[in-house]
Amino acid sequence: MEQSVQALLRLVGGTLMGTLVEASVAWREKAQPICLHCGQPMRLVDLRRKRDLRGLVGDFAFARPYYQCRACGGGLAPDDERLGIGAVGYTPALSRVAAMMVTEVPFERAARDMSETLGATFAEADIYRVVEALGIVAEADIQASMAAPQAAPVAPAGDTLFVGADGTTSFIDGDWHEVKVGVVGMLGPELHHDPQTERDLFKISDPRYCAAVAASADEFFPRVALLAQGAGFGHQDLRRIVCLGDGGRWIWRRMSIFNQSGVEHIEILDYMHASEHVWQVAGVFFGEGSLDTHAWVGHVLKALREQGPTPLMDALGKLRPHSSRQKRELQNAKDYFAANRDRMRYPEFLAQHLPIGSGVVEATCRSLVCQRTKDAGMRWTRSGAQAILNLRCLHLSHPDRWRAFFARHPLRRTPRLATLRRPQAQAA
Ligand SMILES: [Zn+2]
Repeated sequence: MEQSVQALLRLVGGTLMGTLVEASVAWREKAQPICLHCGQPMRLVDLRRKRDLRGLVGDFAFARPYYQCRACGGGLAPDDERLGIGAVGYTPALSRVAAMMVTEVPFERAARDMSETLGATFAEADIYRVVEALGIVAEADIQASMAAPQAAPVAPAGDTLFVGADGTTSFIDGDWHEVKVGVVGMLGPELHHDPQTERDLFKISDPRYCAAVAASADEFFPRVALLAQGAGFGHQDLRRIVCLGDGGRWIWRRMSIFNQSGVEHIEILDYMHASEHVWQVAGVFFGEGSLDTHAWVGHVLKALREQGPTPLMDALGKLRPHSSRQKRELQNAKDYFAANRDRMRYPEFLAQHLPIGSGVVEATCRSLVCQRTKDAGMRWTRSGAQAILNLRCLHLSHPDRWRAFFARHPLRRTPRLATLRRPQAQAA
């Protein structure tokens, strides 16, 4: 009974939306529209050009005046822009729902879940187009902000700024994509119980995320810096900046941009990466997955958390390599831990309630792994992956950032970007 009523309500909702939207159409423009491509005045070619839209409460069509450019033949309906709709076939409200779904689950699942809850059938390919368009607008916003002159520092919400960066490779639709992820927020004063370390650590409040697909460190760090500026980096009220990352040299060299005079600068090696390296060298010496490996790693990591890097360096010093592989792995581990020694003062960090791991990559990339669109022979592209990541970063951040993005009517700007292209057809 309820599903029948829902189907009926979609019909009513669509009819109502169509009527309301058409009532808001401007049947006569105050000024002649100008072609976006060549700047020529456009002429009215159709007073009642029909437009179909799928909406949150129903599907509908409405008519509005349609103009064409004499020079290039490009078309324009000024009402579309006023209404906040772009080149895609979803209303702003429906596209917002689609974007939210896709930041959490793969497209196929999003299509299924939307069909299930909204009482109509939504195609994976349509969702892809809508969400990619929104993500491209989000990317254009980021690029514009990075190019804009730096504004005066904003007042931070606390006195300790947290900056985390990590890199990973994600297997997305049959290809390995390198993804760099950043998170910025304020640390404390609120505490939460961390099950891994069994300590009370500062919560990261108002976290902001960024991510970049197949980007160099030099392309990526301006994104992190942009987030940091928005959170109060550069402001005199800041007392401490905590930087957390894996042991990669690419991260620490750039983290130095977060040095601020008169502000304490703390660098922490992400405990998860430190333990990964411990597991790796143990596997080579005692056999992967063996009891000996588990015992050695358990002992060494406990000492690392409770006493800092010295017992770990001692344990590595006691290992005697019997093969060239063991020798190589041991040297790698020693170099890695020596380079990051000061960043492994975990007992000191934990005593100050500082987080020693962020899980930032897992949080940000979770829905991306194995994301794919099977429908209509579409293939994942780099810009597609970047688009979804942009939206996911917005969605993971404070709800205000998500709302602010949609309050600026992102769909309105999709046709102007002119970068929207049909996804490549999958090679047979
Ligand atoms: Zn033109």
